[in-house]
Amino acid sequence: MTPEILSLLFPQDLPTTEEIEARYPPRNLPAGAVVSRVAPSPTGFMHSGTLYQALFAERAAHQSGGVFYLRIEDTDQERYVEGAVPLIINSLAEYNVFADEGATLDGKEKGNYGPYTQSQRKSIYQTYVKKLVQEGKAYPCFCTHEEVDLTRKVQEKQGLRPGYYGKYAKCRNLSDSQILENLKANKPFVIRIKSTGDYNRKIVVRDLFKGAVQMPENDMDIVILKQDGLPTYHFAHLIDDHLMQTTHVTRGDEWLSSAPLHLQLFALMGWQAPLYGHIAPLTKLDNGNKRKLSKRHDPEATLSYFSKKGYPKEAVIEYLLNLINSNFEDWRRENPTLPITDFPFNFNKVSNTGGALFDFQKLDSISKEIIAKMDTDTVYDFILKWAKTQNTEFATKIEHNQELIKKALGIERNIGPKSRKDLVRFETAPLDLSFFLAEEFEKESATRRAQLSFDDTVIDKVVQDFWATYDETDTKEEWFEKVKQVAAKNGFATDTKSFKANPKAFKGSVADVAKILRVLVTGREKSPDLCGVMQVLGKETVYNRLTGGK
Ligand code: GLU
Repeated sequence: MTPEILSLLFPQDLPTTEEIEARYPPRNLPAGAVVSRVAPSPTGFMHSGTLYQALFAERAAHQSGGVFYLRIEDTDQERYVEGAVPLIINSLAEYNVFADEGATLDGKEKGNYGPYTQSQRKSIYQTYVKKLVQEGKAYPCFCTHEEVDLTRKVQEKQGLRPGYYGKYAKCRNLSDSQILENLKANKPFVIRIKSTGDYNRKIVVRDLFKGAVQMPENDMDIVILKQDGLPTYHFAHLIDDHLMQTTHVTRGDEWLSSAPLHLQLFALMGWQAPLYGHIAPLTKLDNGNKRKLSKRHDPEATLSYFSKKGYPKEAVIEYLLNLINSNFEDWRRENPTLPITDFPFNFNKVSNTGGALFDFQKLDSISKEIIAKMDTDTVYDFILKWAKTQNTEFATKIEHNQELIKKALGIERNIGPKSRKDLVRFETAPLDLSFFLAEEFEKESATRRAQLSFDDTVIDKVVQDFWATYDETDTKEEWFEKVKQVAAKNGFATDTKSFKANPKAFKGSVADVAKILRVLVTGREKSPDLCGVMQVLGKETVYNRLTGGK
């Protein structure tokens, strides 16, 4: 390529590769330290999978004494959305994922290996592209979109692999004078690599999670620099991960098929490639079939969904770590109180081949456990915080009844394995707490007696006998002893075992007596400890509820 062509292709002043390399001195890190990154595109949408991937990278770096950084991959300017970068930073921060280097909220970047925003690295990319062109490893291509499309259609019609390769790579062998002519005619161009790969040969990609994966070599002359002077992802990530000294690239599965190309590009540059780990996407079952979470169809694909639902962030993190490392659950069982950051993340224990199935039941059960361990004030504050953004009417109600709500939340809270676990996520709080609030309870009251399968006379007698001995200061045990006596007095078995042994001899069991009381007082068949509920509601309310609602 003549100097004239080179200066027409790259008219701008560019630094030399030596100057660039000097700006990225070796990182002084302990042996075995992982340098990793999360590299989202600022499209204004925060996919749950981005947090999932970021957790991999962040855990791996920080547990090895390495560096985790945030790179903004905005080379596709058409997809750029204003405000997308703060959304990424805030969303990650919400889940305790903090980068050591990269974009920050005030717009200034931190770290010495930047810029970390690809659109600010234009001259760096161009320098390396120019070098490849100079060395004959890349070339300008003047084909229009229409021409490339047409070639693809012809290939498809003939049952051939579509793409810009071999004899279909029309601009690969343009002579200098043809190039010069096109440039002088101001024809737009892209830069493509001159692939030396052979599709019939295999390359082994050593994936961190999937092991050795055999794939055909890349023979496509892919675009590395677009018409707008910005690189494609393939080239940009190569330059960045080299200069920023990334040791482990953990990224979405969709990039696995490009790995042969990426390894080829590293070899072309004479650089050592990082280790690649391709993470299978989060999936869900749809009519019995497993499919990728879709941004359009699945609300849970958007990260903000989880805060809208009122899942504590710890629950989401634990749930994702549980998907990431198969041994997380055992570790949590053995270390129930340790912070998540103590979990020894291990690349070798990634259960990642089939695409983790997003399991809400599992998330709910983790969330329930986490909420159960919170003290009353904490859970109240979380509910209020959630309500202030998602259900303002409820927020006002609980603020007006703060004392009562705190007492209600305090029933059997944080008392070890027997702690109540009715609150699954903060979203369920309005329903879980409604019967404590007089006005809400009244709305439901008409149906109370109808839920019970006993006659009014039986119910009235149970209520009367219960009330005759009810003492607000009774302990839970004393309270239950009295309920048993009410059962015995009214033809109910005092334990379920004897009822089951001889059902015809009884109206029911003590459980039915408790159910009568529970349904009358709370309007439901399940509630936190009923003795505690009655104490919170107070004697007068309990009496009115037991005797009313006919
Ligand atoms: N910007 C790429 C994406 O959003 C990142 C891939 C990578 O981590 O290298 O898919």
